[in-house]
Amino acid sequence: MKDRLFIVVPLYNEEEVLRETAKRLKEKILSLIEADKISKDSKILFVNDGSKDSSWEMIKDLSIEDKVFKGICLSRNYGHQKALLAGLTIAKEYAEVIISIDADLQDDINAMDKMLDKYAEGFDIVYGVRSSRKKDSFLKRNTAFVFYKFMNLMGAEVVYNHGDFRLMSKRAVEELSKFEEVNLFLRGLVPMIGFKSTNIEYTRAERFAGGSKYPFTKMLAFAMDGITSLSIKPIIFIARLGLLIFFISLVALIYTIIKNFSGGTIVGWSSLMASIWLLGGLQLFAIGIIGEYIGKIYTETKHRPRYIISQKLL
Ligand code: UDP
Ligand code: MG
Repeated sequence: MKDRLFIVVPLYNEEEVLRETAKRLKEKILSLIEADKISKDSKILFVNDGSKDSSWEMIKDLSIEDKVFKGICLSRNYGHQKALLAGLTIAKEYAEVIISIDADLQDDINAMDKMLDKYAEGFDIVYGVRSSRKKDSFLKRNTAFVFYKFMNLMGAEVVYNHGDFRLMSKRAVEELSKFEEVNLFLRGLVPMIGFKSTNIEYTRAERFAGGSKYPFTKMLAFAMDGITSLSIKPIIFIARLGLLIFFISLVALIYTIIKNFSGGTIVGWSSLMASIWLLGGLQLFAIGIIGEYIGKIYTETKHRPRYIISQKLL
């Protein structure tokens, strides 16, 4: 008896791609069943993240057409990470093995074969890693690069060039669901689960339809979220910077005293203005970062549900 696979697909306003995605995923699942890698009752689980278009209606139609298609509908838009978590949490009740993938199928679905081979070898987590980003736009490619570098520098260790295309065993997802945080950054959390894990490479394609739901501003917010959810390095960094500036100001103080006694104190005006602006800016920045953490503590202590499911087709 082969293990049962669930493919989890979070989606937001994806009516342009949904039909094609469903078709391709179904073919994939059939070929995996054919190759005897997964059980016959493996499924595709769409997670509708509060889409404003007809995505959910399409999912309902699909589930009537073919029982390989399943769906859950969230009560509103919660964002990709929470939608994904919702899908994984439901899927683990039914499946032994779960693969998550974006609805635009930019990730190569043919890599699933290799992922399942690794799973059969005993790996609990298999990360899909992009071997090149040639197909991404220039801006996307470079901002993504800066994103990873900056995140690692700030102490948020993430697998390089890994999106959320990954295989997880049932027990890995069970452990993941014990992480209770509301501020979710799955790419950073999954490596913390441990277990045997490995990478497989694939080339990432262009979106075949529709536009990215991750514009630059959202990516920036995502990076900030990732860093402040996983690490306190920025606060340490700020504290050190504060200390450094304190020492510099001591030197400056000595300098002003000397200047005061040697006459001609009026000349200091421009440097004074400059330092006021500099320090003002730095202080605001520092307060902002600390505020970010306090905000996180605030949202975590509320223990609000991370998502609410309004409908299930299972
Ligand atoms: N997505 C989601 N909720 C959101 C935004 C995006 O579920 O609020 C889904 C989206 O439908 C897609 C995946 O997250 O399946 C990745 O989004 P996208 O392809 O737009 O990101 P990109 O590949 O451009 O980084
Ligand atoms: Mg995409």
